[in-house]
Amino acid sequence: MLLLDGKKLADELKAEIKTEVDKIIQSGKRAPHLAAILVGNDGGSLTYVGHKVKACEQVGFKSTLLQFDDSITEEFLLNEVSKLNANTEIDGFIVQLPLPKHINADNIIMAIDPQKDVDGFHPVNVGKVTLGMNAYISATPLGITKILERYNISTEGKHCVVIGRSNIVGRPMSILMSGQSKTGNCTVTVCHSKTKNLKEITLQADIIIAALGKPGFLTGEMVKEGAVVIDVGTTRVNDATAKAGWRLKGDVLFDEVSPKCSAITPVPGGVGPMTVVSLLLNTLKSAKG
Ligand code: NAP
Repeated sequence: MLLLDGKKLADELKAEIKTEVDKIIQSGKRAPHLAAILVGNDGGSLTYVGHKVKACEQVGFKSTLLQFDDSITEEFLLNEVSKLNANTEIDGFIVQLPLPKHINADNIIMAIDPQKDVDGFHPVNVGKVTLGMNAYISATPLGITKILERYNISTEGKHCVVIGRSNIVGRPMSILMSGQSKTGNCTVTVCHSKTKNLKEITLQADIIIAALGKPGFLTGEMVKEGAVVIDVGTTRVNDATAKAGWRLKGDVLFDEVSPKCSAITPVPGGVGPMTVVSLLLNTLKSAKG
């Protein structure tokens, strides 16, 4: 069984990005610049944005964090988005989700200039990716694609089962896996909460991408020998023995599933670090124009 080490791969990619940033600066240009908008004090969001800012520092990017109280209005936030759109010193920016309930996230995403939408959530980018055109692929799907590419996982003609159909993971992942690309050309089945006989479907899969947010959902008896398993799930599960009082758990019951796999991502240390590095890749892409 091959452990698909997302942490190690992310470190390698960060070193490659840093080399490119050094070249950009040596040529007399400014460093790539990523901005993040964070609204409120959600613990998970604070952690994720913190990781992104730290990753920027590691590769020599400039980063700007705009933090607002959760009492701000949608109009105020739209105005901040429009200022970032117009700011030529910023190559790309993200609005950390979720937003407070009184702010319509769709309206905010629609207001982001697609050229600066390094999260790849704007419908223009989603549409272009669907059509196989050059665009920003959203960070988690891009990170998974990089894992498949760098570990030379063969995908052509394989049956890929994606569990989950969210706009940020399952749906784009299913589109990428069926696309005409080096890490695509799969026959894809998309499963969701209304899918019947899920086990019968996963047992036919050469590649399983589990993105449903249910810890330990995919068990050994649901996976055929030799399958490749990508575990996207990251759920905080209470654990008194952990320093933080919780641990991150994936959607895959690793101890049961991993002995049957030809390759598998761990949680933590699999898809998560690759998501952060993918945001850097998209920002670099924007900076290079
Ligand atoms: P989400 O928006 O809640 O979507 C979950 C999907 O799973 C939905 O499509 C849902 O079906 C489906 N589902 C739920 N229960 C199911 C079941 N019993 N059988 C089959 N399908 C089922 O979640 P998400 O945003 O895609 O995130 C999924 C997981 O990935 C979460 O743990 C999240 O924290 C994690 N995540 C990790 C990263 C990372 O960087 N590692 C990034 C993003 C997300 P319906 O559509 O029918 O409701």
